[in-house]
Amino acid sequence: MRVVLLGPPGAGKGTQAQIIARKLSAPAISTGDIFRANVSGQTDLGRQAKVYMDAGDLVPDEITVAMVSDRLAEPDAVDGFLLDGFPRTIAQAEQLQTSLSGLGQALDRVLELVVDEEELVRRLSDRRMLVDGEWVQRGDDEPGTVRHRLEVYREQTSPLSGFYGGIGLLSRIDAIGEIDEVTERAMTALGKGGAAEGASSADPTAG
Ligand code: AMP
Repeated sequence: MRVVLLGPPGAGKGTQAQIIARKLSAPAISTGDIFRANVSGQTDLGRQAKVYMDAGDLVPDEITVAMVSDRLAEPDAVDGFLLDGFPRTIAQAEQLQTSLSGLGQALDRVLELVVDEEELVRRLSDRRMLVDGEWVQRGDDEPGTVRHRLEVYREQTSPLSGFYGGIGLLSRIDAIGEIDEVTERAMTALGKGGAAEGASSADPTAG
């Protein structure tokens, strides 16, 4: 299956992406993770992306779209994928439609994880990740940057709901509750309900 996971920062996309991708036997492709790996590896792409990421802004579409096209061309993504954090703008969504149709492929479903903003702010300020054996806060999870990222989401990414709703691909999932309950709702929306086992091995550091 070819699936997009949509939702604001803190909705649990990273966690659900890992679990759902495993159930679908498809790679979870997270643009945030690819950018962070490039920042750590001090690549050219990482240096370009870091400025935007630190500010809580989106990395420009040209850079992001090229990176995702390369990733989708890798052999493990040919039969299916789960995209986490991409697309994030209408332009990216349109580019994705175009490049998939060029490959004779199409998205099967877009899952939007829905969480109210108060809960998002609470989750993001509590979120920590493990780096070199220490739990640290992601730079872009600091309170000022979090507020800005939520604003960016509202303005630039939330219109994707209407975009995918309009072409009949959108399923909105209540993302409040236990991890395995949310997974179950997502699998049901994918027509694969009743298979939420394995959720307990989720990575608690994923977004
Ligand atoms: P995430 O881990 O998905 O929250 O992404 C972390 C940061 O990476 C975002 O705040 C953006 O700066 C950048 N990023 C990730 N995905 C995209 C995307 N599709 N378009 C633009 N920037 C992105």
